[in-house]
Amino acid sequence: MTTQPPPWSRPGGRDHDDPLPPPRSVIANIPKFHLHGWENCGNHRYDTTHGHLARMLARNGRRDGRVWTLPCGDCGIRVALNELHDLPCGHMLCRECLLVAGLRVGMKIEMNHVRIREARLEMQEIDRRLYLEPRMGPLQKDMLQRRYSLLRRTVLDLAALTCCGHNTKLDRLLPCMTPVISRDLWLAINWICNSPDSQRSCAWPDCGAYLPACCRGQPALTPAR
Ligand SMILES: [Zn+2]
Ligand SMILES: [Zn+2]
Ligand SMILES: [Zn+2]
Ligand SMILES: [Zn+2]
Repeated sequence: MTTQPPPWSRPGGRDHDDPLPPPRSVIANIPKFHLHGWENCGNHRYDTTHGHLARMLARNGRRDGRVWTLPCGDCGIRVALNELHDLPCGHMLCRECLLVAGLRVGMKIEMNHVRIREARLEMQEIDRRLYLEPRMGPLQKDMLQRRYSLLRRTVLDLAALTCCGHNTKLDRLLPCMTPVISRDLWLAINWICNSPDSQRSCAWPDCGAYLPACCRGQPALTPAR
């Protein structure tokens, strides 16, 4: 487990054989994975007075003393509301199921990376055309934009980043995960969002790790979200 802080944020300062720290602008883009874990979880607050959650509580909620409990949308185990994680589709996940959802992204990308890459290349081509042909007719422009949205949804589906057809936006929930799951998921989401032309990997022998566009001191290209 990489629960160690990176060399540049170790309390004792850098050793002389530590790698040089990245520029400040890059450090600001990297989540503090070593601080991610169950300690940040279990204190989630939700508005229970109206909307979707109020309806869900009226239907499925149970009050144990001062605490509301709801069944997790995946495993069905009843959990205190402040230990559940809300997805944009309205599903609520317990921490175990959130970790599984995080792990599933990497597995699905490994399975589907050829199809994801094809879709990303087509999206990049559409981006290029929309940029290079500003006088394109509105009909054709509309067609390309629809195609782009469809491809974006396909990519998110193929990477298990959707639930009930909505983007799960799991990057909001990284601090609840473990340092390793959170880092791998962050890298995976960056890989999905970075256009193929902006994708680079580390050139250090035996490393080859993915280098997100936001870690190169340049603004990231259009995210696929
Ligand atoms: Zn949590
Ligand atoms: Zn669950
Ligand atoms: Zn859902
Ligand atoms: Zn490397």
